[in-house]
Amino acid sequence: MKPLLPGATIGVLGGGQLGRMMAVTARQMGYRIVVLDPSPRCPTAQVSDGVVVGALDDLDAARHLARQVDVITLDTEHVPADVLAELHTIAPVRPGAEVLRTIQDRLVQKSFLDGLGVAQAKWAPVGNADELAAGLAKVGAPAILKVRRAGYDGKGQVRVDAAADGPAQLARLRGEPAVIEEVVPFTREISVVLARGLGGDIQFYPIAENVHRRHILHTTRAPAPMAAGQRERAEQMALNVAEALDHCGVIAVEMFELADGRLLVNEIAPRTHNSGHYTYGACATSQFEQHVRAVCGLPLGDPRALTGAVMVNLIGDLWSAGPPAWHHVLARPEARLHLYGKDAPAPGRKMGHVVLLDDDTDRALRTAEDLIAQLTPRP
Ligand code: AMP
Repeated sequence: MKPLLPGATIGVLGGGQLGRMMAVTARQMGYRIVVLDPSPRCPTAQVSDGVVVGALDDLDAARHLARQVDVITLDTEHVPADVLAELHTIAPVRPGAEVLRTIQDRLVQKSFLDGLGVAQAKWAPVGNADELAAGLAKVGAPAILKVRRAGYDGKGQVRVDAAADGPAQLARLRGEPAVIEEVVPFTREISVVLARGLGGDIQFYPIAENVHRRHILHTTRAPAPMAAGQRERAEQMALNVAEALDHCGVIAVEMFELADGRLLVNEIAPRTHNSGHYTYGACATSQFEQHVRAVCGLPLGDPRALTGAVMVNLIGDLWSAGPPAWHHVLARPEARLHLYGKDAPAPGRKMGHVVLLDDDTDRALRTAEDLIAQLTPRP
């Protein structure tokens, strides 16, 4: 398979911030970008050469995109796998339909991990009241019900504090098929972001340590302070996942770390990831360039960190009294501001992020909190 060199056109399914940051990098490298999204003003379309307006499950629109491009990749794992399989007859789709089929349904994803022998939280499928009772008996309370499909950032998730609350909490999912899992008493969350090239070559980024607030990623620190043996165990788990999927591109494997050091995989994202945003600025090759290189069949770049870094997300709530006071960010020489060009800053919506380039990541975490306090509107 010949590599796709600059001048080739990359099609992106979904026009969010991940597609946008990849498009900026791809265009810098001389590639063209065409994006499929329901909105012609989506974050990726603003920086693309072309846009096809259509829903991600609109096969005609997706075919229209496929005919204009040399390779197709994704901004989201919520593109139906059947659409990808169909597009593959027109242009190569990387990662492929089977990766998405395995990832986009939590039940299939969890069965896949069990099959690989990769540790994860105790879980059970929940399609009805009987399965709920059996699932709660297996995983215990407290537990979390998660819809099988299309959940993200805590959407489609409800907590079950006591077994007696199960039926009422399940009703809140409005009949959506779900899985139930134990609440894991983790000491921290980490993610392994790696790239797998078209020929199977692998590059790992420094492991990221993540803090979530209200189910949304709040901060990432990299490299995560971690003993070498533990880092290798985490990398090996992520590598097993990427190879078993025969993945092409960047992939993120999120894990819980327990007090006794055990690692449990929480979630797999077969794409660039919010916890890898720090790589843009902190690493020799960003996750976005790495993804472009992988899907175009180029050799992977050097993922080495040039500095420590902390990333903090900017959530729509910060806009409740108008645009935040950006001078607080821009006054700091170590801070890099990224805004995604979204015109509706709803609460809970990811609008942008700041990367703080600082080898002292404890200090950078404090700076991140100071910045968020400065950007938060006063009541
Ligand atoms: P998810 O959408 O599954 O990635 O969940 C978002 C966040 O919710 C995770 O990063 C955790 O902070 C929390 N969470 C999800 N599942 C669990 C669990 N089984 N136990 C404890 N916390 C969880």
